[in-house]
Amino acid sequence: MTKYIFVTGGVTSSLGKGIIAASLAKLLQARGYKVTIQKFDPYINIDPGTLNPYEHGECYVTEDGAETDLDLGHYERFLNVPTSQANNVTTGRIYQHVIQQEREGAYLGKTVQVIPHITDEIKRRMQLLGESGEYDIIITELGGTVGDIESLPFVEAVRQLRWELGANNSLVIHLTLVPYLAAAGELKTKPTQHSVKTLLEYGVQPDILVCRTEHKLSQEIRKKLAQFCNVNINAVVESIDASTIYDVPLLMLKENLDKTALTKLKLPNKNEPNLENWKAFLGKLKNPTSEICIALVGKYVELPDAYKSIIEGFIHAGATNECKVKVSYIAAESVTKENVAEKLKGMDGVLVAPGFGERGLDGKLNAIQYVRENNIPFFGICLGMQCSVIEFGRNVLGLKDANSFEMDANTSNPVINLMEEQKNITNMGGTMRLGAYDCEIKKGTKAFAIYGKTKISERHRHRYEFNNDYLKQYEAAGMIASGFNPETGLVEIVELKNHPFFVAGQFHPELKSTVANPHPLFVSFVAAALANKKSK
Ligand code: GLN
Repeated sequence: MTKYIFVTGGVTSSLGKGIIAASLAKLLQARGYKVTIQKFDPYINIDPGTLNPYEHGECYVTEDGAETDLDLGHYERFLNVPTSQANNVTTGRIYQHVIQQEREGAYLGKTVQVIPHITDEIKRRMQLLGESGEYDIIITELGGTVGDIESLPFVEAVRQLRWELGANNSLVIHLTLVPYLAAAGELKTKPTQHSVKTLLEYGVQPDILVCRTEHKLSQEIRKKLAQFCNVNINAVVESIDASTIYDVPLLMLKENLDKTALTKLKLPNKNEPNLENWKAFLGKLKNPTSEICIALVGKYVELPDAYKSIIEGFIHAGATNECKVKVSYIAAESVTKENVAEKLKGMDGVLVAPGFGERGLDGKLNAIQYVRENNIPFFGICLGMQCSVIEFGRNVLGLKDANSFEMDANTSNPVINLMEEQKNITNMGGTMRLGAYDCEIKKGTKAFAIYGKTKISERHRHRYEFNNDYLKQYEAAGMIASGFNPETGLVEIVELKNHPFFVAGQFHPELKSTVANPHPLFVSFVAAALANKKSK
């Protein structure tokens, strides 16, 4: 029977529930259990696809094309197991389903209410992944903070589900903050006590407290937390600030979080967790033999969470190369023809980021022209790839008004065009070309050297594409399409023939980089930037 672990958050947001959930899952997986993680978010958007990155950071896309919360990225990076649409559910999606059922008459004249109809739908979704029998344990992270009006139906659903599942089949981990008051020189337990009281008011007694803290929890503090929150003292888990999120599984191991959880679920503590590969990765991550600087040119640089997966991709690729990758965020809008050399000074490689809309376009083009002409390694992702095509069109092919249809629908040279299947779409949510598509790589290209094979699959999130009417012209001038969709001919990868490293993809490689499988494009780009630095 599948067992369920629920992770709630108290006191404040941003405590890192996703990392705790992923770390626990990693430990359980390393003990041989089959685990997946799902996130339930209390906002009304059907999914985060329509959200501005400034709202919740990056939108993470799964293999099956779901636009999801960025925590799913952590789950995949830690577990190396793909997630899907079923792993991320919002209030909006729950209501949409219930309201549609109501319109279809499925409730047979009943009054449709939050309880039982909304909570029933939440419970149904919470158990969907468990139905396959594929998983031993399902960890469900509840977004938001306990006490928020909007999370109430989710907490109530957890309460009911715990009762339905019966003893020993579920547990609740409450992640809380134990703040340090410098003036008093003390760690304070009161916010946690209050937050647990709120949970108790809703009928949920947490089994384990994971306490975020800047200082070690003394035995005395642990006892106080245990006594006032009705948990065993060994169920008070310290989660001290770590230098990297990848340390957290080992920190949780030290605190016996996995053992405590398994004991409460009456599951055997079989096998000590096998974390050899994880530790080897950490060893390389923490002992780099070199260092490079990469410029990340983008539009949302004030909020690094907007580029979460890219940053993690660099961490994985850096470890593989035993090289520390320092990422410097450069606001695309600030890059002009005049200051580009100054802005990119000291950079060993430049990445132009994904994005939407015109803001910052010129800055991206200036950066790309500079790295193309100065043989600096370049990596373009999605909009970054489209920009490299526009830049080449304007400055090499002499198509002065080369542009993307997204930026200028009246250009006489739409080198990036709206995809045919997008032309009649008016809805914004979930309508892009999303998820995994095959890509065929041409032999003899840099892309082939990087991937070492001709058939790959990568994840997508875009509306526009390379306009194949221009392909011959581009290839004749040295920008070649080295990867394309075998069914539609859509250009997936472009690269420059006479450049040390100029590779750009229409897809998002960052979404597939994990600790166990760092993405080859990131690994090669970091290696190229390192070589560039050494040659200086
Ligand atoms: N705005 C571009 C498109 O829709 C690129 C999208 C992206 O970078 N994810 O095609």
